[in-house]
Amino acid sequence: MLDFSPSPETEALVARTRQFVEEVVIPREAEVASEPHRLESIRGELQQAAREAELFAPRVPRDHGGLGLNWRDSALVFETAGRSLLGPQALNCAAPDEGNMHLLHAVGSAAQQARYYAPLARGQVRSAFAMTEPAPGAGSDPSMLSTRAERDGDGWVINGDKWFISGADGAAFAICMARTDDGPTMFLVDADNPGFEITALTPTLDHAFPGGHCEVRFADCKVGADAVLGEIGKGYDYAQLRLGPGRLTHCMRWLGIAGRALDIAMDYVNQRESFKKRLAQHQEMQRLVAESAIEMHASRLMIWQAAWCLDRGEKALHETSMTKVFVAEAVNRVVDRALQMCGARGISEYLPLANFYREIRGFRIYDGATEVHRASIGIRLLREAAKRSDT
Ligand SMILES: Cc1cc2nc3c(=O)[nH]c(=O)nc-3n(C[C@H](O)[C@H](O)[C@H](O)COP(=O)(O)OP(=O)(O)OC[C@H]3O[C@@H](n4cnc5c(N)ncnc54)[C@H](O)[C@@H]3O)c2cc1C
Repeated sequence: MLDFSPSPETEALVARTRQFVEEVVIPREAEVASEPHRLESIRGELQQAAREAELFAPRVPRDHGGLGLNWRDSALVFETAGRSLLGPQALNCAAPDEGNMHLLHAVGSAAQQARYYAPLARGQVRSAFAMTEPAPGAGSDPSMLSTRAERDGDGWVINGDKWFISGADGAAFAICMARTDDGPTMFLVDADNPGFEITALTPTLDHAFPGGHCEVRFADCKVGADAVLGEIGKGYDYAQLRLGPGRLTHCMRWLGIAGRALDIAMDYVNQRESFKKRLAQHQEMQRLVAESAIEMHASRLMIWQAAWCLDRGEKALHETSMTKVFVAEAVNRVVDRALQMCGARGISEYLPLANFYREIRGFRIYDGATEVHRASIGIRLLREAAKRSDT
């Protein structure tokens, strides 16, 4: 018998998170919208408020000062925090830091955990994850990785260009994927390394990531032997270890935005009238509400099931991949419908929907574009079917 009920402690935590988001976080959104340069300082203030409210760092283990939640409970808290674009920032469970913390905790040495993981978990620094490269380097296809790391005495020297590196501007360090003679490898590179250069801040549709999306050059970037994260040659394995849970946490957070968008749209159609009825009395509006609610419900169940697989210690690559495709497409549709239901007001900046619309679009591309996930899901299933028919 499946049991979907959270423990009373988790239920209370979710209620406190909801109250925090409504009363502390959402009221700061207007300031960020009108003065985007203050995002970083408002983030710091909200993180302090989250610490005081004992909501900080939900996925960080208790011995590192976090709440130590498993993936299933995280799904509930991340969705609730995700009702505001600032919520995950406040709780220190936003990308790319959340994924980087997961990876550092799983494969970082004791020294790397003390130097990189601990300050990240405490919210004292931000980080970046540098994988994507301009053509002909790695994009959807990681095997096209062109950044190289060559041995240099005891250490390494890294050369290559990366782009769309979220949060690199202002980050304390980046995890850089580079090719070595022994295979793709991850390196921890301090942002004050003279060989680490931010060459441009890419103008993009979205604006909510602190530090934006950056073009980064590793130019004769010298790092010590201790900069290798985990083992040499295991970069692709670690990328999977990071990206599986990473894409699921994106799903959790974006589901929160979809829920808030639907709530805003329902409020609007319950008030506004057309053709001598409230909009909510038009059958077409009821259909839009129902379609969004159904897609959100299916998204939530997929997220919970994949979270359950992760809690059992499974890699859940197939489950997180299917969930990512479905949720990324569904939440885009939910936000789009919400805009439509609010008419011109949906397009205006008087409601946060236009902002949600800008921010959510990229999710169909990052952490694996929909088409790439569909291809790998199909390939995996067809390969298994072929194996079955061979036996
Ligand atoms: C907002 C945002 C934030 C990002 N943050 C980071 C970050 O912090 N760090 C980082 O390293 N990267 C980051 N990225 C980059 C992201 O990971 C890449 O955009 C993604 O991997 C796709 O690579 P690409 O853009 O080079 O697309 P391309 O590889 O050029 O592909 C273009 C399109 O072709 C299609 N396509 C590709 N392969 C296939 C296939 N096999 N079958 C069918 N269709 C296919 C897909 O529709 C895809 O969108 C970010 C991107 C965005 C938009």
